[in-house]
Amino acid sequence: MKAMVIRNWGEPFVLEERSDPEPNTGEAVMKVHAAGVGLTLVTMRTGVFGGEAPRVMGHELGGEIISVADGVSNVSVGDKCGVYFYLNCGHCRWCRNGRETLCENHAGYVGVHRDGGYADYVCLPAENFIPIPKGLDYEGAAIAADAVNTPWHCMRERAKINPHDDVLIVGAGGGVGIHGVQVAKLFGARVIAADISEAKLSLAQEWGADEIINVRAINDFTSEIKKLTDGKGVDAAVDFHGAPETFQSCIDGLATGGRAVVIGAQPGNVTVNPINLLVTEQIVTGSRHSTRAELIETMDVMARGVIKPVIGKRVHFTEVETLFQDLITQDLLGRGSLIYDD
Ligand SMILES: [Zn+2]
Repeated sequence: MKAMVIRNWGEPFVLEERSDPEPNTGEAVMKVHAAGVGLTLVTMRTGVFGGEAPRVMGHELGGEIISVADGVSNVSVGDKCGVYFYLNCGHCRWCRNGRETLCENHAGYVGVHRDGGYADYVCLPAENFIPIPKGLDYEGAAIAADAVNTPWHCMRERAKINPHDDVLIVGAGGGVGIHGVQVAKLFGARVIAADISEAKLSLAQEWGADEIINVRAINDFTSEIKKLTDGKGVDAAVDFHGAPETFQSCIDGLATGGRAVVIGAQPGNVTVNPINLLVTEQIVTGSRHSTRAELIETMDVMARGVIKPVIGKRVHFTEVETLFQDLITQDLLGRGSLIYDD
């Protein structure tokens, strides 16, 4: 098979010819038909997530199961599947209580700690394959499994969005943020989109944002947030960028009872005033990816057409490097998508 390989972390992709994978007990092999490309992968490629190289990257995947080994009961040959990309144990207290991204035996990520799907075939534990519902295509299933299920978990479980909420989304024009705008609108919120370019903000408006803030065109982010909410502040602020300065504005721009959620993080510190937290019952927290159940829910709502994949550019999977370069220069609007040979 053809595979796009990172020989050492930090280096560009190299096209290699590899032998087709054979599944071991409990595993299945999928012919890849679609894959997503986003900023998380650019960070993963630097090596900061750990994992061994050489490595085939790629975790947002859709395809068809072509072989299963002994001990597999959840998928069969011919099933169309998406991929859940956390390698969780499935039996610890977090896995069992519906918070599996906090798994205490977490073994890493597809495409970082074992080979992913920027290749003709991908071999994974069968439990990581999730059947695609009728009405959703391979590309939609691929994008569902990070760009959509991540904000789905965040908006419902962490930001706890209600129809009467004003919600600030920082990084609203990014590959995950743009789907976050759709999820927040689906839950009925009034969305204030913040980003760094008119092109990204126009995209956010196209997908439902009610108000926009160009953070490069203003002096004081917090006062802009207050201005757009009649001085009240936002009921939830979700930060896909996660720099200390933007997350500080998220915290400072909260209304009474508001929730500030960091979902894409960068190192640094923010300040909270304990007295203010007590008096206002504000919550400052994080949101980590999604559970398998939430991925199933996400694919179902996408199959109904109420959340749509926003694709900025499609290239053949052997040209994945061009999408990485677009992400590095911040020139990709929405998600990158890879095309495969049938
Ligand atoms: Zn676990």
